[in-house]
Amino acid sequence: MTEVTLRHAQEAVDEYVRTVVVRYFTELSNLAQLVEEIREVARVMNRTYGDQSARNSAEQHDLADELADVLAIANQTGTDHTAAFLANLETKTIRDRNRHYNNPKLTDLPQRD
Ligand SMILES: [Mg+2]
Repeated sequence: MTEVTLRHAQEAVDEYVRTVVVRYFTELSNLAQLVEEIREVARVMNRTYGDQSARNSAEQHDLADELADVLAIANQTGTDHTAAFLANLETKTIRDRNRHYNNPKLTDLPQRD
């Protein structure tokens, strides 16, 4: 299987939008669609890891597929997902270095040396 980078994924989504969808929807339409897709992710998470169960097999969706929907919609704004992901992870790593270890609600975390 060929490795797919975030950049390749963005380019594939852009090609799909320009050839199949014809053009990007407006930003506000994509925002609404993003919220719809997030709802689908939440539903799968709740049915899979939460207390609710799926009513029927048609309600059982693939979490990976739903998360891919979310990533695809984020393509319109000209964001470089690779750079944004790396910058975001670096920010969170620095910001949250001790935050979660110091959270008394997370008593099941392993202790740091
Ligand atoms: Mg979806």
